[in-house]
Amino acid sequence: MKKSYISAIVILACAAVIGGIAGSSFYKKRHFVEDIVTGEHVTEVRMLSDYNPNLKGTAGDTEIYVLKGAEEGGSLLVLGSTHANEPAGHMAGIVLEENANVKVGTIYVIPSIGHSGLTHNDPLDGSPQYLHYTTPSGELRTFHFGSRASNPIDQWPDPDIYTHRSSGQTLSGSETRNLNRCYPGVEDGTLSERVAYAVTNMINTEGIDMEIDLHESSPEYAVNNATVAHERAMTIASEGVLDLQLEGISMSLEPSPVTLHGLTHRELGDFTNTYALLMETGNPSQGRLRGRTDEALAQTGIDPCYVINYDLGLLYVDYSSGSFPMELRVGRHLAGIQAYINAFNNNSEKQIVVEGIPTYDEMLANKVGYYLK
Ligand SMILES: [Zn+2]
Repeated sequence: MKKSYISAIVILACAAVIGGIAGSSFYKKRHFVEDIVTGEHVTEVRMLSDYNPNLKGTAGDTEIYVLKGAEEGGSLLVLGSTHANEPAGHMAGIVLEENANVKVGTIYVIPSIGHSGLTHNDPLDGSPQYLHYTTPSGELRTFHFGSRASNPIDQWPDPDIYTHRSSGQTLSGSETRNLNRCYPGVEDGTLSERVAYAVTNMINTEGIDMEIDLHESSPEYAVNNATVAHERAMTIASEGVLDLQLEGISMSLEPSPVTLHGLTHRELGDFTNTYALLMETGNPSQGRLRGRTDEALAQTGIDPCYVINYDLGLLYVDYSSGSFPMELRVGRHLAGIQAYINAFNNNSEKQIVVEGIPTYDEMLANKVGYYLK
């Protein structure tokens, strides 16, 4: 046999082995089903496809946990993992539905609204695939660390330019898979547009009073430790921010830009009657200045590159401790949810009364696994 044939066979064999290993890892992540426990006070579990049948049987469909109090009142929708590489929102949603006990009104929790994005990672980012927590009973629970965008297996190919349907705004083609550029959505559009439509339709159908979308952002990004609010939600947002500041939790308030389309805080405020809010915490595992990216970084936020940048004054979060752990980020989201519920109650005849949400101090002390069933 010619020497060149032997080299070609060896190269092909190596490529097949590498492709096989990568393919099996991709397949495993794609089909991994998170073991999200239905909280003992959850009164009903619905599916997102109940609000857009075009999602049935797709990776965009996901559970809606309904916590309805014995007494009628106001209603709140909480969205986690709109961006699936921002895990504090996903975990805050899970802790909320597994622990909250609603007495008055209704809270709807969708911990995996970016479900398709949870099933893969951003290419070339070296991100971890999973996060692990130990429960008080000693059980190890595993959750996805995903991508900012929907999985291209579910939505392909990307156009060269993405045109937002209701405004005509144009963005780069890959933004077509960014759920938070697709609101208010399109009933029979791309997968991301169909998911966005289902949320908009759900809020209108159920008459949901307030909506909070949980995000994280790079510590070097200006909108950080912040709440972004639609103009109709400004009174509630400012009262909530003041309360959080008094509790010692730094939170800034940003108005939703009127010319930036497709985001929850803009379109859910414009296309429904809900008070639309979005919260951001700092997440070093998502930042561009980070070093080695693994589960430890996602969980602890400890990164020497961020220490250097904090010392240079380049960050928008207090990184003086040299860490930004998951319990702090989840604790911030849960404290924000409680503060905005209190502010809603002060400004509405309808009330939402809920017990069992871990406080910020409790979350810092006990950490996330303690609150998983
Ligand atoms: Zn985000």
